[in-house]
Amino acid sequence: MAKSISALSYYQATATPHPDHPPLQGEVSADVCIIGAGYTGLSAAIELAGAGFKVVVLEAETVGYGASGRNGGQVCTGFSSGQQKIIAQLGKDDARRCFALAEDSKQLLKDRISHHSIDCDLTWGYLHAIPKPSQFGGLKEWKEEWDGLGYTDTQILDKRQLEEKIGTRAYHGALRESGAGHLHPLNYCLGLARAAVSAGAVIHENSRAVEVDTGSNPFVRTAKGTVRAKFIIIGCNAYLGRLVPKLYGRVMPVTSYIIATEPLGENRAKALIRDGEAVADTNFIVDYFRLSKDTRMIFGGRASYTTMEPADLGTYMRPRMTAIFPNLKDVKIDYAWGGYIAITYNRIPDCGRLSPTAYYAHGYSGQGVALAGMYGKLMAEAVRGTAERFDLVSRIRHLPFPGGPIRVPMLASAMLYYRLKDALS
Ligand SMILES: Cc1cc2nc3c(=O)[nH]c(=O)nc-3n(C[C@H](O)[C@H](O)[C@H](O)COP(=O)(O)OP(=O)(O)OC[C@H]3O[C@@H](n4cnc5c(N)ncnc54)[C@H](O)[C@@H]3O)c2cc1C
Repeated sequence: MAKSISALSYYQATATPHPDHPPLQGEVSADVCIIGAGYTGLSAAIELAGAGFKVVVLEAETVGYGASGRNGGQVCTGFSSGQQKIIAQLGKDDARRCFALAEDSKQLLKDRISHHSIDCDLTWGYLHAIPKPSQFGGLKEWKEEWDGLGYTDTQILDKRQLEEKIGTRAYHGALRESGAGHLHPLNYCLGLARAAVSAGAVIHENSRAVEVDTGSNPFVRTAKGTVRAKFIIIGCNAYLGRLVPKLYGRVMPVTSYIIATEPLGENRAKALIRDGEAVADTNFIVDYFRLSKDTRMIFGGRASYTTMEPADLGTYMRPRMTAIFPNLKDVKIDYAWGGYIAITYNRIPDCGRLSPTAYYAHGYSGQGVALAGMYGKLMAEAVRGTAERFDLVSRIRHLPFPGGPIRVPMLASAMLYYRLKDALS
């Protein structure tokens, strides 16, 4: 069984055939150099190459190596922060525009999958399940908030109704959405790469940017080459490291782990999630799960702010899954892997300009499957000279995380606090 965070994931094992993209060699020029071949970078590449720009994408590893090829595959509504934090910063009207953008991001994902014939098992239906009876009132408020924003694809389920749909007694009700769902994240990402290349973009894998100059003659350097470009777009999210000192500390990488069981067969799988929705609980440290097309339980959760990886991820994650589905205690876990989620202090994505020619977007805080595509598109719009939507979201202010030796211990304590809060509330 796979043990390491970088071990073969279920997604890699079931990836659709895809080409290698040779590393950058020598000096090239482009209109736009994009760093990072995840949803953010590839979305910007599709838009810009499609509009006739000469686009070069540099990827340190391979397409989808980062969170875009490792995530839970849940296509979510709105922002991880919730709406109130956005209202507090931008006021009701502009916060409403942000929610509309998040809605458009799901539509964008859907349109791209259909337009580019991306085979990624897109399935609609989402359940937000409450672990405590006292949280039922919260579901009503949530529904009212979304109704007020014009998103009415929702329904409240009480405990009995929920237990007809999912094979666990662990929850006390749920908010069901028809307008959210799940997909195979790596295959979606590989499909975006194919679309970017068809539009004319050039992707270089194994081409880590080691120097970025965002001045009046922008360039990006790798070990074996240089891209001189009019614009630079940075889409490295939690994997950025210290490449751009100004961005260090704006997001915090948080590890999340996922396991995939052996195939359960149609009947057993249906007994767990009858109608095939994605499920997430409403805890701060969230458990999220769904069935794969080949009837495996894909179960994710457990966040860690430290870089210490458990010795055996499968053994580490199994109790989390069997707490919800005790009858899975004997199933084999075929794959276990992890990845880094980029969170911001307020859980709202962070984007902006480093100079008039350099843009960045990151920090989707665990909700980037749909949003990252939209932020990539917004950066492309800004490069093309229509920055209205980009300027709306880049007005949101962000506190940086502390740097230095207190960074990880401080966040580990914060995590402990939230674990206690989930247990006691
Ligand atoms: C385990 C896990 C579960 C998640 N579950 C969900 C979920 O269910 N739903 C949801 O909406 N979101 C989820 N997310 C978050 C979501 O996956 C991300 O928000 C999204 O994929 C971000 O896309 P991105 O393109 O910005 O970043 P990434 O996909 O991380 O891509 C960044 C890329 O930049 C590359 N890179 C970094 N440095 C350099 C460099 N110097 N030079 C060149 N390239 C570089 C990396 O190799 C990487 O490929 C999850 C994330 C993880 C890790």
